[in-house]
Amino acid sequence: MIIIMQSGIDQSSPEFGQLMDYLGSKPTIRPRVHEEVGTLQTLMEIYLIGNTAALEKSEIEGLPGVERVVRVSEEYRIIGRHKDDSRPIGFEYNGVRFDQHNLNIFAGLCAVDTREHVEQMLRALKENGQLCTRMGAYKPRTNPYAFQGHGASCLPWVFELAGKFGVKVIAMEVAHDSHLDEIRGALEQTGQPTGVMLQIGTRNTQNFELLKIVGRQTDFPVLFKRGFGITLEESLNAAEYLASEGNHKIVFALRGMKTNLGDPHRNFVDFAQVPVVKRLTRLPVCVDPSHAIGSRERDPDGILDVMHATAQGIIAGANMILADFHPEPQTALVDGPQALLLEELPYFLEDVAIAREAYERRKSLAHELRSSQQLGPPHRSAGV
Ligand code: PEP
Ligand code: MN
Repeated sequence: MIIIMQSGIDQSSPEFGQLMDYLGSKPTIRPRVHEEVGTLQTLMEIYLIGNTAALEKSEIEGLPGVERVVRVSEEYRIIGRHKDDSRPIGFEYNGVRFDQHNLNIFAGLCAVDTREHVEQMLRALKENGQLCTRMGAYKPRTNPYAFQGHGASCLPWVFELAGKFGVKVIAMEVAHDSHLDEIRGALEQTGQPTGVMLQIGTRNTQNFELLKIVGRQTDFPVLFKRGFGITLEESLNAAEYLASEGNHKIVFALRGMKTNLGDPHRNFVDFAQVPVVKRLTRLPVCVDPSHAIGSRERDPDGILDVMHATAQGIIAGANMILADFHPEPQTALVDGPQALLLEELPYFLEDVAIAREAYERRKSLAHELRSSQQLGPPHRSAGV
C-alpha cells in the first residue's frame, strides 16, 4: 500500500506525526518514508510493508494530510502499474524529460578512448541537434586482459567537453559504489557542466548490493539494463530494488538475450517486449540495438541490421535509444564492429524519425479503433 501525502507536508508537519501514530498502532506494518524534495514543493509517499490486507483504505484516506492511498499488488510495488493508480509516470533530469510518451536518443561511444574521438563524437551530436550521449568510462569485460575503460581519470575532461558541446545527459555504466563517488566528484570539480544517467549493465542486473547503493541516491537517474540470461520478471524485480531504496528515476533497457538461437546476431533481439514493459510498469523503455545486433551487417537493400532493430524498437513504442557510434571503429578499444560511423548519424536520425512517425500513426489508429468500439462506427479521415 502506498500513502501519497498532500503537497507541502514534510516530516515536521503535525499531519505526518498523526499518521505515524496511527500506523504505529498497527503492529504488522512497517512504514518507509520517501520524500522527493523539489524546488517548488516536497512530495511525500509512504510505503507500507507487511500485512496491509487488514488496513482500511478509506480510513487512511480520511486522515489529515493524506492525498490518496493506492493499494498495490505484490508484484513491482513501486515501478508497477496498479489499479486506480494515478501516480505520475516519468521524470525530468537536467532539462530532459523521460517518460512513456516521448523518445530520447543516446548516440555515443561505447567506451571513452581518446580525447580526440570524444570531441569528434560530441561535435557531430551538436551539429545534429542532440542533447544526450553515451560514454563508457568503466567497462566490465569478459577477458581480464581487455581494456577496462579509463575510469576516473577521463571523467573531468569528458564532462568538460560534454558541457562545451551542450550535452545535458551522458549514460555511463557504473559497476561499483566508488564509481558513483568518482562521477559526483568529477562533476563538482568541473562545475556540473553536464548530467549523468548511471547505467547498470546486464552483467550487474542482479548485483543487489550495487542496486541498493545506486537506489539510495537520487541525484542521478538510472538506466537499468535487463539481465541477458534471466526472465523479464526477474529483471523487473531487480529494477524494483532501485525504486524500493528511493530512486524512482529509472529507465528500463532491453538489450537482447544471450542465446545461440539469435545467431548470427550477438544477442536475440527482444524488442517485442517494449509494450510488455510499458504495460507492466510506469518506466520509460529504452532499446539498445547495438549490443543486441553486434555487427555492421546489412540487408540486400542496404539497411544495417542495427538500424532495423532500432526501427523495430521505436515502432513498438520505445522511449529511448542507446546506440554505439565511433569516428574510427577500426581503432575502437571496445565494440568497434557494431559501431555506426559519424557520417551515418544524420541518416540514423532520419531513420529514427521515420519509425517514430510510423509509431505515432499506429497510436492514432489504435485510438480511433478503441473509440469506435466504445462509441460506434469509426469516422475515418480521408487518406488514412
Ligand atoms: C554497454 O551498453 O556498454 C554495455 C556493456 O551493455 P550491456 O551491459 O547491455 O552488455
Ligand atoms: Mn559495448
